[in-house]
Amino acid sequence: MTENPPPSETKAPARIHPMRAGLLCRCPNCGKGRLFSGFLKVVDRCGVCGFDYTRLNTGDGAAIFVMQIAGGLVVFTALFVEIAYSPPMWLHLVVFLPLVLGLSLGLMRPGKGVMIALQMRNRAGQARSDD
Ligand SMILES: [Zn+2]
Repeated sequence: MTENPPPSETKAPARIHPMRAGLLCRCPNCGKGRLFSGFLKVVDRCGVCGFDYTRLNTGDGAAIFVMQIAGGLVVFTALFVEIAYSPPMWLHLVVFLPLVLGLSLGLMRPGKGVMIALQMRNRAGQARSDD
């Protein structure tokens, strides 16, 4: 049985590099706790330091970057293969559709982790009318 860790509602920026924490899917505050409880479900609190993640919301930010990176890589690779080798269309579908799917799913979790870590580092938040 684990105890509830004391809440650490510190305003201090993240102590480890956000890219490292995000790519490893670890807590950007302590670098040890898990960041996700499911594939893309962020934990409510860090199991190690107790940092509250309920205030953070990256929205679709990670998905936009992942679509741009995966789409760009696959489209330009497919264009290069088409120009250089002119393979049949079915070969493009067999090779590049699974590739874009795998890249998108593989990059989504670390991409969201990096977005959360950068949001913590830069203290970014939702714009409100009273700001
Ligand atoms: Zn933590």
